Amino acid sequence: MKDRLKQIMDEAMAQIDSSDKLDKLNEIKVSFLGKKGELTSILKSMKDVAPEDRPKVGQMVNDARSKIEEHLEEKKKAFEQALREEKMKAETIDVTLPGQRIPEGHRHPNTMTLEEVENIFIGMGYEVVEGPEIERDYYNFEALNIPADHPAKDEQDTFYITQDILLRTQTSSVQVHEMEKGRLPIRMIAPGRVFRSDEVDATHSPTFHQIEGLVVDKNITFSDLKGTLQEFAKRLFGEDTKVKFRPHHFQFTEPSAEMDVTCFKCGGKGCRFCKGEGWVEILGCGMVHPHVLEMSGIDPEEYTGFAFGVGLERIALFKYEIDDMRLLYENDTRFLKQF
Ligand SMILES: [Zn+2]
Repeated sequence: MKDRLKQIMDEAMAQIDSSDKLDKLNEIKVSFLGKKGELTSILKSMKDVAPEDRPKVGQMVNDARSKIEEHLEEKKKAFEQALREEKMKAETIDVTLPGQRIPEGHRHPNTMTLEEVENIFIGMGYEVVEGPEIERDYYNFEALNIPADHPAKDEQDTFYITQDILLRTQTSSVQVHEMEKGRLPIRMIAPGRVFRSDEVDATHSPTFHQIEGLVVDKNITFSDLKGTLQEFAKRLFGEDTKVKFRPHHFQFTEPSAEMDVTCFKCGGKGCRFCKGEGWVEILGCGMVHPHVLEMSGIDPEEYTGFAFGVGLERIALFKYEIDDMRLLYENDTRFLKQF
């Protein structure tokens, strides 16, 4: 009996030592200590043992049992420890690795220019007002002194949805909406997208952006217009910028003018950038036509005003020295990254 017990123990120990997996340990446990295990079968055969020897044999069996259990537990712990170490090794973070760079966007040159212009006018007490891109013919043309048969309408040929509804050609339509509200005085700029049925080239696009400005108050004169736009040009292009007004014609202003600014690149001497002129045309402006005020319900005997319109792209191209308008719309990040 004693030999048999030793044999079982040796066998169990050997199997435990040679096991290579955690699962294997369970199998060993069952085969030696389980209900049908070898050690259990010895206990079952106790009836063949002389009664006086039974306590001793029982003690031996229990000793063997606890030794096997102890060894199983040790081995199990060793396995678990090895497993943990392996896992730790696999999850190690190398803090010296360079980080993953997340590409960071930035604002489009158009947006940067718009915000700059807005800030200048907000600083002068103007309100920024927006209006619909889809507009009635009346607000886009008629109320701005461009009747149905006027040739100026051809110059601003646009996309019609119906005969009366169109995509606006200018943000001046927003000014009409504001004047109709009858809240005077008005000091506003209206930035936004406008449309013309133009072919795409370096200076034309069927869609671009305008910033229109309108001031209506008592005693507004052409000097107010000049002073305001001169200040605007200086803040946008630099303190040394000079402005020049040339007579022009617009339907909704009288008198009308175009404003040039000295080239910020050469200071007016003439360079490749200003095509040797020294001056760059930047915007159109004028005193609001009395008829336009009247149509929107403002008494031209009591109120006067001035208006101006500037192409956002024109400023952006000038300011950032871009020579092709199409680059602003192509969204090529290699181009946009430069600003
Ligand atoms: Zn120049």
